[in-house]
Formats: sequence, structure tokens, C-alpha cells
Amino acid sequence: MAELTQEQIQEALAPVRDPVLEQTLGQLRAVKKIEIDRSTVRVDIELPLYGHQGRDEITSGVQQAVAVLDAGYDVDVRYSVRVRAVGGPLGKGGIPGVKNAIAVASGKGGVGKSTVAVNLAVALAQDGAAVGLLDADVYGPSIPLMLGTNTKPMMKDNRIVPLEAFGIKLMSIGFLLPSDRALIWRGPLVAQLMNQFLNEVDWGTLDYLIVDLPPGTGDVQLTLVQKIQIAGAIIATTPQDVALADAVKGIKMFEEVKAPILGIVENMSYFICPSCGERHEIFSHGGGERTAERHDVPLLGTIPLDTAIRVSGDIGHPVVASDPDSASGRAFKMAARSAALRLATEAVKRPFRPSIQLNPKPPEEDENPPLSPFRRR
Ligand code: ADP
Repeated sequence: MAELTQEQIQEALAPVRDPVLEQTLGQLRAVKKIEIDRSTVRVDIELPLYGHQGRDEITSGVQQAVAVLDAGYDVDVRYSVRVRAVGGPLGKGGIPGVKNAIAVASGKGGVGKSTVAVNLAVALAQDGAAVGLLDADVYGPSIPLMLGTNTKPMMKDNRIVPLEAFGIKLMSIGFLLPSDRALIWRGPLVAQLMNQFLNEVDWGTLDYLIVDLPPGTGDVQLTLVQKIQIAGAIIATTPQDVALADAVKGIKMFEEVKAPILGIVENMSYFICPSCGERHEIFSHGGGERTAERHDVPLLGTIPLDTAIRVSGDIGHPVVASDPDSASGRAFKMAARSAALRLATEAVKRPFRPSIQLNPKPPEEDENPPLSPFRRR
């Protein structure tokens, strides 16, 4: 058996492809550690997202690459995940502790924006990510109800402690609003409230903060998007023309603030008749896909019109948690993974320092720190 060096193995692994990120391990700087222990080669690989569906393929690629050098070694591949920060469009600032803020927006109300936000957040957490959900819908905060959590949050050391439900941290602007008094929301008022709010919530460290924006594309929404330093935006829509026309306004709003659009989620896309199993396209067909193509943004997913989604929202138990294997649960999960992949694809484009670790030493906390100056507290 030939004696292999770490450098030889590193070189051999560099061209192995990650089939999900569609880049090589070398390009991704994914190989974090190589150890050779008699006849075993141990390789530590760091992936930039949870729910990565290509681990088996990478493992066999790594095994083959080592076998080409010498077939006598056993190869043990271990995985870890570190979600990287894309950084806000302005390149600085951001919410303390938050790597990637993802806005969920819609051109109009009632298309299921909050339902999409809740289920995507829970789906990302189910895959292992640290996730927060910020209900910033100043006109009708509904997320605490959708997650069955409506107690007022506590303060600790002058900071607001978010609530927790279904593995995610949760905060709603509704907790700050007087329920009995209609407020006229204007950009400056929202900006002032958000400043206070965003800096006072103790999120800890989050891979993703899903932000449920108010419906529409006016001054208030624009102010929020700028304040929050969005890493990526998701537009929720239904397939019919009137909703899509508004969804396009949403796309334009994010383009204006130079926030990347992760994609469109087409909600209430189709209905499967529970009696006969036939598929009905109540709100028309393919609108989300056409809009996505026309504006060169991905279609992240299509979610069925499903009584279980409505009921689970009403009782505070999102469908992705109550029935993850249902068509609706799976549709949300796939949309969440597509969004995470889009962000990871953006994040790995950012330059970062070489990080291969040939001699074992304690892991660095984060050699590619996000842009937020508040990240380490
Ligand atoms: P928005 O945030 O766009 O105003 P919501 O998420 O509050 O919309 O949804 C409006 C209503 O539609 C809620 O009762 C919700 O449970 C229901 N709903 C949303 N998406 C679906 C769906 N795919 N199937 C069935 N009901 C849905």
C-alpha cells in the first residue's frame, strides 16, 4: 500500500463535484480536514446548506478519487453544515445575529403569503437550520396564531426574547401594536418602529430569518425591505392573472433595492379532489411558471389548494409539521430547500480565505464572517 499524503488527497478530491451546488469540492472549499490513520482516510466535508440531497454522490466521488491513488484505503467521509451569509444588498448592517434575512412578499393580500412564510420556516428548521420568523405584517400580523403561540414575549437584559414554536424562534410586530387602535402606517413611522424592534430582539445566531412582509408594494413595504437588509426575497402568488400582475410589482420592488429574488412560490396552484383524485386548476394553470420565466427568476415550488393547509393554519399547527409526508407538506419542503439552495449558491460566490485544514487543530468559529458587525456578541 502506497503511503499517501494529505496534499495528494486534497488534490485528488478537488475535482469531485457537488451535484447539488454544481461546483467542485475545490471551488466550494468544502474539504475541511483530511486525516490518514493507517489504512483509513478520513475526510471532513462542510456543506453550505442543510437538506443537501447529494451526500451519497459526493461520498462515492470521494471514495473513487482516493481509490485512484490507492485502492487499499478505507475512506470515511463525514459531513458538517455551515450556512454562509449572503449579506444584504447594501453590503453592511443587517439584523444582529442573522446570517440571511429572507423576505416573503406578495403583491396582494389573501394569496397565502403568511402560510408560505410559516411552512417554509418550519421546513428549514426541520432540515436542521437555525431559523427565526419575523412577522412584520403591520396590517394584519397573523403568524403567532398560525403557530399557536400568542403570549407576549419576555424581556431579558433589556432585549426581547423571541418565542419558540416548532423549532423556530418567533417574533411578531403585532406584539408592539395596540390592538384596539387603527394606525395609519407611513414609511417613516415603520422605519422608526423597525429600528427599535430589529435591534432589540435577541435572535441568537440564525441561519435564516424569514420575514413575513405586509402585502403590497407600497412605501411601507419598501421601507421594511431596506431596513431589514434582505439577502433574498420570495414572492408568494396564486396562478391567476390578477394576482400575477401584482406579483410582478413585487419583483420590481426587490429589483429596485437590489435584493436578489430567490424565486416565486405559486400557492393554491391546483386542487386534488379527495373523492375522485382528479386534479383541478381552479385559479388557472402555469401562471407562476410563466411569470418566473418572463422575469428570469426560479419557480421555487407549487403548493396545492388543500383544506389541510387552511385547517392547520387555523389550529396553529402548520401542515409541514402536522403532516410532513402529505403532498402539501412535501411541496413546502421542496420549496424551502430550493430557496436555501439559491441562497447557498449566492453565498459561495463570495470570496473567502483558504480554509483547508491539513493539520488538525480546533475548528475556527467562522472564517467567512457575515457582514453584520453585530454577528459576534
Ligand atoms: P396572506 O398572508 O397572503 O394574506 P394567509 O397566509 O393569511 O394569506 O392565507 C389566507 C387564508 O388562506 C388562510 O385561511 C390560510 O389558511 C388559507 N390558505 C393559504 N394557503 C392555502 C392553501 N394552499 N390551501 C388552502 N388554504 C390556504
